[in-house]
Amino acid sequence: MPSTTQRRRKNRKEMLEHLKSGPCTCCGRTFPPMEMCWDQVRGLDLPSFRISMHANHSWGAVLAQIERCDLVCRECFTYRRRFRTILQSRETIVPMTDSIHEQKALEQELKRHGNN
Ligand SMILES: [Zn+2]
Repeated sequence: MPSTTQRRRKNRKEMLEHLKSGPCTCCGRTFPPMEMCWDQVRGLDLPSFRISMHANHSWGAVLAQIERCDLVCRECFTYRRRFRTILQSRETIVPMTDSIHEQKALEQELKRHGNN
C-alpha cells in the first residue's frame, strides 16, 4: 500500500507529464514529455526554481513557476539559450520572436554586424 506521500509524488509526476504533452510553443511540433523543456521567459526578476526540483515546493508554487515558462522542445530550448547568450554578450535588446526561423534570421543579422 503506497503512502500518501508516494501517491502524491506519483500524481504530481503524471500531472507534470500531462502539462508537458502539449506542442512546442516555438516550433509547434509535439514530442514525448521527456523531450520537452520549460523555458522561463516571464517573471525573471522573481525568485524561481527548476521545475525538476518540484518535490521541494508546493504544487501551487510549481504551477506559478510553470506559468512563467514557455513549453518548448529540446531543440528550441537549446536554440533559445544560445540566442540569448549572443544577445547578452552584445548587450543588444532584440525582442524574442515566436518563430524560430525569425530568430535564426536575427542571429544571422547579428553575425553579419559582428563581421563589419
Ligand atoms: Zn520546438
